[in-house]
Amino acid sequence: MKVLVTGGAGYIGSHVVEMLVEKGYEVVVFDNLSAGHRSAVHKDATLVVGDLLNKGDLEKLFAAHQFEGILHFASHILVGESMEKPFKYFNDNMAAIWNVLEFATANGVKRFILSSTAALFDDPERIPISEDEPLKPGSVYGETKYMAERTLMWMDRIYGLRYCALRYFNACGAHPNGHIGEDHHPESHLIPITLQVALGQRDSLAIYGSDYDTPDGTCVRDYVHVLDLAEAHILALEALGNGPSRVYNLGSGTGYSVKEVVEVARQVTGHAIPTVETERRPGDLPRLIADSTRIKRELGWAPEFDNLHVIIETAWNWHQKHPNGFEE
Ligand code: UDP
Repeated sequence: MKVLVTGGAGYIGSHVVEMLVEKGYEVVVFDNLSAGHRSAVHKDATLVVGDLLNKGDLEKLFAAHQFEGILHFASHILVGESMEKPFKYFNDNMAAIWNVLEFATANGVKRFILSSTAALFDDPERIPISEDEPLKPGSVYGETKYMAERTLMWMDRIYGLRYCALRYFNACGAHPNGHIGEDHHPESHLIPITLQVALGQRDSLAIYGSDYDTPDGTCVRDYVHVLDLAEAHILALEALGNGPSRVYNLGSGTGYSVKEVVEVARQVTGHAIPTVETERRPGDLPRLIADSTRIKRELGWAPEFDNLHVIIETAWNWHQKHPNGFEE
């Protein structure tokens, strides 16, 4: 099966591409390399450098390939930035998905996987958070994913496009082979920043808020390994071949506070990792833990990395081998 992976040179996308290639899919990656890395793309995938905001680029892409499925990762992803630059997020994230969907529907694509998010669940009524939880984005970033999910509902109704929205909680870790991992510029995610402190690239970690209504006052998140996420994409893509559209919450089901993550990173790295407590970051939600029962029951998803220590070990392996990230 030939599939298009937008944003396939990025962190989660590149791990999914690698798994797709290993499973025998023919993979075309479309990426503008604004945040992705050329060398993150598996050598057996075809990389097309282009921009989803440019319909001419999409015209050429869809003229050259007939895709059976699309996995859409390309997007701006930072909660904090989305509260400072809301129009960047509204304009780019929505134009990107609307453009790709316009070409997908015109070209008869019938399967679509969306990278969605736990940022849909501001102030959840129940934790762990299942798919029955009312959707209430807590940031402009979350709102763009909410709008993307709503758009897909219409695509299904109008064109019969079958979709699966995968709402990631906190993606983390790296491929144990050490070739690909997390490399954002600037880096803003907790685990890579913590490991950069351990590598001596930063003096300390700023903890964004220690007065939340959580056991130790710092935010609690559900950290799920990027390869477990990758597996979920493949299961979802296959399920859409003979089943209806669906949404799934994807996490490990266990919550760790910022302070607990740092403690595990200290154990893994053997470094003291100094911290400084600072102001809250706008848009951050106090507690996000997934209930992933539905995807386990319906698709047999069985996460392999259920231990934060092991997850951080895979990230540490990547950061030690590639202290400056991808070299290009
Ligand atoms: N965080 C922090 N310091 C940092 C980066 C992140 O205290 O330098 C906190 C952040 O406030 C959140 C958690 O770590 O509670 C995870 O943040 P991240 O940006 O990794 O993912 P998010 O939950 O925003 O998707």
